[in-house]
Amino acid sequence: MSDKKYCALTFDDGPSDTTKFILDILKFYNCTASFFVIGDRIKTDDQKETMRKAVAQGCTIENHSYTHGKLIEMSDEELLEEFNKTQEIVYDAVGEYPQFFRAPGLNDKGRLYDVIPLPFAGGSAGTAEWNSRLGDVTSNIDERIKGILSVVCDGHIILMHDCSGNYLTAATLRYIIPKLKEEGYEFVNLRELFRIKGIDPKSASRMQWKDVVKE
Ligand SMILES: [Zn+2]
Repeated sequence: MSDKKYCALTFDDGPSDTTKFILDILKFYNCTASFFVIGDRIKTDDQKETMRKAVAQGCTIENHSYTHGKLIEMSDEELLEEFNKTQEIVYDAVGEYPQFFRAPGLNDKGRLYDVIPLPFAGGSAGTAEWNSRLGDVTSNIDERIKGILSVVCDGHIILMHDCSGNYLTAATLRYIIPKLKEEGYEFVNLRELFRIKGIDPKSASRMQWKDVVKE
């Protein structure tokens, strides 16, 4: 039995200029991760190229809606449109469909589960490091590091943000990746985390996965 521990780094709200910095850091440390993208942020060839680069490095691209709007206020039809548009844009850019959905704001009102046909990813957002037009930077680098180290455990999904200008998150990674590697952690993308743990992400419904562990 290996005493290796695994967790998944996940990044919401990209792609952006920050994504490139994060990809360089992941490559340097030989880690993979999952990016939950906002469909309407994928417009330029450069953004599509960033996603292809992520996939070429072993990362996965997942679905974080099309507009990042208030999903619970939308009709079923609008919800499906949010979902499908991003599925197609990602497929068009990288040649494969997202396999996970994460609701903006981790909104988990039940109706979303009835409409969106993918497993939902949650995660710990304890780092409070989102910014740009979606909110404010609310934590400095020490708080971000502490936020991650205080929740991390084997099988955990760490939630961070690669929105534009969020360079402190990239800086945080430079600290936490080597530190957690020393403690026996390996960083893998979300699909890989489920495979390693032998858990089918569709085996639980109407919930957001936060830790991928056998009960
Ligand atoms: Zn978001």
